[in-house]
Amino acid sequence: MKKENVIVTMHKQPAEKRVGNFNEVALGYTEEQAIAEASRCLQCKKAFCVKGCPVEIDIPGFIKKIREKDFSGAILQIKEKNSLPAICGRVCPQENQCEKECILEKKNKGINIGGLERFVADWEMKEKDKQNKQNKKNPTTKTAVLPAVAIVGGGPAGLTCAADLVKLGYKVKMFEALHQAGGVLVYGIPEFRLPKAIVQTEVEYIQHLGVELENNQIIGKTYTLDDLFAQGYKAIFLGIGAGLPRFMNIPGENLNGVYSANEFLTRANLMKAYRFPEYATPIKRGKKVAVIGGGNVAMDSARVALRLGAENVYIVYRRSMEEMPARKEEIENAQEEGIEMQFLTVPVRILSKKEGWVSSMECLEVKLGEPDESGRRRPLPIENSEFELEVDEVIVAVGTKANPLFLSTVPDLKMNKWGYIVTDEKTGKTSKEKVWAGGDIVTGSATVIEAMGAGKHAAQSINEYLKSDV
Ligand code: FAD
Ligand code: SF4
Repeated sequence: MKKENVIVTMHKQPAEKRVGNFNEVALGYTEEQAIAEASRCLQCKKAFCVKGCPVEIDIPGFIKKIREKDFSGAILQIKEKNSLPAICGRVCPQENQCEKECILEKKNKGINIGGLERFVADWEMKEKDKQNKQNKKNPTTKTAVLPAVAIVGGGPAGLTCAADLVKLGYKVKMFEALHQAGGVLVYGIPEFRLPKAIVQTEVEYIQHLGVELENNQIIGKTYTLDDLFAQGYKAIFLGIGAGLPRFMNIPGENLNGVYSANEFLTRANLMKAYRFPEYATPIKRGKKVAVIGGGNVAMDSARVALRLGAENVYIVYRRSMEEMPARKEEIENAQEEGIEMQFLTVPVRILSKKEGWVSSMECLEVKLGEPDESGRRRPLPIENSEFELEVDEVIVAVGTKANPLFLSTVPDLKMNKWGYIVTDEKTGKTSKEKVWAGGDIVTGSATVIEAMGAGKHAAQSINEYLKSDV
């Protein structure tokens, strides 16, 4: 086999070791490994990988720079389009995007574009030399001369919109409800998939570009949108996510020991319960845990429960492995770690034998019928197939929805039947004058890169609007 065709696999912490810690699972590329992987790239003239990237990074361009050992050039190239590369390199579903479109995917195995993006982003963070410091003081930074724009919500949508606008010369202030910006990146995705120090560095980079950040501000409560306009903001972007947990509405869901995945993960990640006794955040450390759902949130909850000391963790999912929406890599990681998959199973009720605490969950087996409106095969109950799963903790990860807390304060904002904000698909413009929106609050739960793409498009549209307004 030719040298350039040798796929460079990224090393991971061994499963038996990593279940005992919260350190990152995937260990990243060394310089030599990154150059070797970059050398497989064919530098296609018509690069399909770029078409697969929602923020249109010049992928062959940055890979060529890695090959030439110009890591600083590579990171600058990425940052022209993506302000959060260390995050995207870790959590974006590249297997469904750029890597899926890579020409080599059809022949052998596509380039590990996410791994290379992560490598240069991490390289930049570690690099202490003068040249790197100049890169961090990004040459695109400008002193704000253009009107003020308010960003509501510090998740990937808000961070991206803020970064793009500040680079254009706008005065940008971001309001975040929690005590830390990052959205799901800080409260949802666990440390072993996305170290919080990395999110913090990316947030600081955006502040370094000139974005002012004010935490602990619940817009709708501390200020209304009209207050913000009265304070002089000429445009507002809403990137408030869709973090209100859904439940299954089955008997027993209010028992002690039942969590929504959001609460469980927020306690573990943002509130650092896993670092007890350094942090005294209470959390139940179940011994036999059922996690209901089949997405990334379910996978993360299961793997956190395992690391908190569970002996058995079951993913209870109503379809089969094929229909699971979680990233393939994360399903594999979960299985390697010993998470047990209980496919084609729906919970019927949660039971208690002792003082209001969970003791088991009654489930029903199902089979898959014809596809439903989501395009996935509908689960159909199998008669008399009920069985009891002995568990002392249940984590419900069946999705989230829009939080009405803020939205109820803006009656003139058009919403769809699911409570998400209606926007123009291309621009993110809402029904309310001078207000844009993007990310999960528009699409429902989606991905980091889609939220970033929405933030980018809104920034372009806000710029066009304000330019013509000046
Ligand atoms: P969010 O990230 O939800 O951020 C919204 C922010 O707005 C929050 O910080 C919130 O506190 C703030 N806010 C809300 N209301 C207000 C208000 N009134 N005033 C001020 N601030 C407010 N996607 C992937 O691509 N890959 C993955 O591996 C992946 N794993 C995931 C794992 C978990 C556990 C979860 C929950 C999601 C995962 N996702 C993943 C989905 C992804 O994280 C989201 O699609 C993305 O974060 C949405 O970005 P956003 O900016 O729209 O919203
Ligand atoms: Fe390189 Fe694949 Fe993109 Fe071609 S499609 S430029 S091989 S990453």
